Amino acid sequence: MPDLTPGVASALSPLVRRIVAPNPSIFTGPGTNTYLVGIDEVAVIDPGPDDAKHAEAIVGASMRERVRWVLLTHTHPDHWPAAARIKKLTGAEVAAFGRPPKADGDIPIDRVLRDGDVIEGTEFGLKAIHTPGHAPNHLCFFLEEERVLFTGDQVLQGTTTVVIPGARRRHEGVLRLAREAAQDPAPGAHLPGAR
Ligand SMILES: [Zn+2]
Repeated sequence: MPDLTPGVASALSPLVRRIVAPNPSIFTGPGTNTYLVGIDEVAVIDPGPDDAKHAEAIVGASMRERVRWVLLTHTHPDHWPAAARIKKLTGAEVAAFGRPPKADGDIPIDRVLRDGDVIEGTEFGLKAIHTPGHAPNHLCFFLEEERVLFTGDQVLQGTTTVVIPGARRRHEGVLRLAREAAQDPAPGAHLPGAR
């Protein structure tokens, strides 16, 4: 059973670590899942709420200068607010899809990702897959080296997520990709944004 204690980085595979944010709720379960991808250069997926201890845990899990990217699966307020703090501590680039909905807040995005863009780290490629449904600007990230799909809130563990009307077909496509990825024997092939 992987560690779900907030503030503790638990290794899920050679390239992936997870830190659960201290924001348990009916939407997030134990808390938002923040993932660290890479060792030599690190991408942080979904930094979570603006909590000093959580940000310290994320930054402290690697050498500061190795944290190169903060990637947002989407911009709901349980996923992005620590981005500014981590950017300040590390100089990381914040990247998300398109223009976020205004209601999500003032998000410090440095790089706009499009469907198919790949974040190239020294040890990995993380491909952005536009998956509107749970949110119009939702991205899943596919870690090619380990065939792991970071599904954000598009596919949550052991439950169905909220899907906006009209996005059902795309959602089904994501589920199919997730299932295909999950057939690979790599551990943690399908890593949700929470729960
Ligand atoms: Zn969400």
